[in-house]
Amino acid sequence: MNAEIIAVGSELLLGQITNTNARYISSQLAELGVNVYYHTVVGDNSERLKQAIELAESRADLIIFSGGLGPTKDDLTKETISRHVGEELVMDQSAMLSIEAFFQRVNRPMTENNRKQALVLEGCKVLKNNHGMAPGMFYSHGNHVYILLPGPPKELEPMFQFEAKPALAKWLNQGEVIISHVLRFYGIGEAELETQIVDLLENQTNPTIAPLASDGEVTLRITAKTSTEEEAWKLIQETQELIMSRVGDYLYGYNDDSLASSATKLLIDQGLTISVAESLTAGLFQSELAAISGVSQTLVGGVVTYTADSKVNQLGVSKEIIDQYGVVSEECAIAMATRVKKMFKTDVGVALTGAAGPAGHDEHPAGTVWIAIILPNDEVVAHQLHLSDMRNTNRLRAVKRTLHYLIQLLSPVTKI
Ligand code: ATP
Ligand code: MG
Repeated sequence: MNAEIIAVGSELLLGQITNTNARYISSQLAELGVNVYYHTVVGDNSERLKQAIELAESRADLIIFSGGLGPTKDDLTKETISRHVGEELVMDQSAMLSIEAFFQRVNRPMTENNRKQALVLEGCKVLKNNHGMAPGMFYSHGNHVYILLPGPPKELEPMFQFEAKPALAKWLNQGEVIISHVLRFYGIGEAELETQIVDLLENQTNPTIAPLASDGEVTLRITAKTSTEEEAWKLIQETQELIMSRVGDYLYGYNDDSLASSATKLLIDQGLTISVAESLTAGLFQSELAAISGVSQTLVGGVVTYTADSKVNQLGVSKEIIDQYGVVSEECAIAMATRVKKMFKTDVGVALTGAAGPAGHDEHPAGTVWIAIILPNDEVVAHQLHLSDMRNTNRLRAVKRTLHYLIQLLSPVTKI
């Protein structure tokens, strides 16, 4: 089974938007074991779209379309496919009802062209759009399957995930179960992780193990294919145990977890509150935490004290510490974390201070960062980082490293 993705939209060709839908669909198809051989982009032009469809039919079994399902004249994906394969477009009553309901809800008159959005290829499986109006389609014809999805990523992604993917999995496997489970690692490079499990990677058949690296993080996707869900999980479990025995110390989460969500979960589970004093990251650490829903159960507050003066005047770090050791120092980081923990009366206090770059600070080169964490029993943990001279990369890395230290400190099993 191989696939081609056809993204329809002149904005893509004009460089006004990026083809993130193709990236998303490709990554989802990889999970199903479908090979994607081509990404095609074509403008809102029926003749050229028809040519793209013919070419795709000559080299792919599955063709997935993104965009051009809306109400306007330039939306012509399904009309072109309908003419090309000789299948009528028919009104889908349930889509029509939800379009009418949408206009009633927003209290706006419905223009006639909106009806066109409820037209679908006769005989297709209609894919519900829970975040917009135009329904998608799963249409099988001859040797090909055509999946039509709306352009806006907010509509396309959930529609693919919850409507198209299960239909596709069923069609692909007829009775087979495929389950994927992602392990997330931090603090170990991709090359080192691969070296530690090279024999597992080389001998993999079922389950398969696929590594992926991005900005300091590495993930391993374990995918099992069997006849029952139970059997698939058993295979995944066995492989996971083997992997954990080699590199388990670096594991911080699973599937959609992030460093911030894992840290937040540990804090909440242990009933701990946290406050943060930030210098070089200027709020970025708190912003990462605040992206996690439910964080108010643990994040009490924090301060940004960017200059030496504000560290003294607002946070109450002693002037002597700064005069003696400077702001890029273990002592300053510990004083900041101690002060913020007191100020906000939290269980955990965290501080980040350092030279973001590209310039250094005093005798410290760019990328010198001190992180301090004060634990509930007032135990003090401090770390020095030596990052690069790239300012914003350093700021983000400092945040991630701090989150990772927190996870390690709070995890019952792993230690630094
Ligand atoms: P609508 O009902 O919103 O018109 P549609 O299915 O007709 O949806 P398009 O008109 O092609 O889709 O695109 C609508 C919007 O969706 C675009 O303006 C763009 O913001 C986004 N979009 C379209 N194609 C892509 C793509 N390949 N990658 C990312 N975003 C896209
Ligand atoms: Mg449109």
